[in-house]
Amino acid sequence: MKIAFIGLGNMGAPMAANLAAAGHTVTGFDLSAACPEGVSPAGSATAAAQGAEVVITMLPNGDILRRVAAEVIPAMPEGAVLLDCSTVDVDSARAVAAMAADAGRRAVDAPVSGGVGGAAAGTLTFMAGGPADAFEAVRPLFEVMGQKAVHCGDAGAGQAAKICNNMILGVTMIATCEAFALADKLGLDRARMFDVVSTSSGYSWSMNAYCPAPGVGPNSPADNGYKPGFAAELMLKDLRLSQLAAESADADTPMGLTAMQLYERFVEDEGGRGKDFSAMLPRFEGRERS
Ligand code: NAD
Repeated sequence: MKIAFIGLGNMGAPMAANLAAAGHTVTGFDLSAACPEGVSPAGSATAAAQGAEVVITMLPNGDILRRVAAEVIPAMPEGAVLLDCSTVDVDSARAVAAMAADAGRRAVDAPVSGGVGGAAAGTLTFMAGGPADAFEAVRPLFEVMGQKAVHCGDAGAGQAAKICNNMILGVTMIATCEAFALADKLGLDRARMFDVVSTSSGYSWSMNAYCPAPGVGPNSPADNGYKPGFAAELMLKDLRLSQLAAESADADTPMGLTAMQLYERFVEDEGGRGKDFSAMLPRFEGRERS
């Protein structure tokens, strides 16, 4: 397939490289990052999009996505698919889909989970929103870049699934960390606490697969000085997106709001920036900061 790839940062570069290695013709554009091996550089996003059957974007936020989409959609061939894999707000995903439909192009929002490691290994999970025919058209690309793609519904449904999932993740990570800190104060051994909770009704991915306590449970960023992993500021970005969506849809999400406020304080005032999001546990150990 002839593919344009716009946004070749930490995630985009390995994803584009995997597509090129699988035999697709990939033209890339980024404001600052260089093209990875196998990807031919274009002078602009518009130049990359010309003649492309699929234009993939992997950009920092919804405002940038809207600007790039407004530039590239008119340059895309009729019927071509704009496949946005960035994590952005649901409203931006829907606005971009409407822009594409008005111009006779198709759009799919397909944010990913799996991080930089999954992007490099081609094992990402894609959660997608948009017309079924457009999803089918890009399915072979999902198969190269990832191991699973779920068609979640119409435009914006992929972003909705991503931020709902990450809202649960933020809340359960905080609950797991505060429970460990309480267990410490009650004199309960952390390994015993893990043993019980990981096989009882308090279990979750945060406890069982990504335990925030060093030396307990499976290997996780806690065992590596809380080096990310999934950085606290990226969790904060996703929690902010879930709150934006909740406001826009008039949904009541008090736990998501509290999680966002705690990560906000952690990242902005308490030195959490650059640490893994599970570093909430050492934060709760300092009782005076809670
Ligand atoms: P990044 O900052 O490394 O890459 C973004 C790239 O976009 C940069 O290279 C930047 O120069 C480029 N860019 C910005 N504006 C542009 C424009 N107008 N035209 C062309 N290029 C432009 O970020 P990343 O870690 O690759 O993340 C990209 C997206 O993926 C984000 O939405 C992020 O939330 C999401 N995501 C990241 C991870 C992760 O672990 N890093 C995991 C899942 C999802």
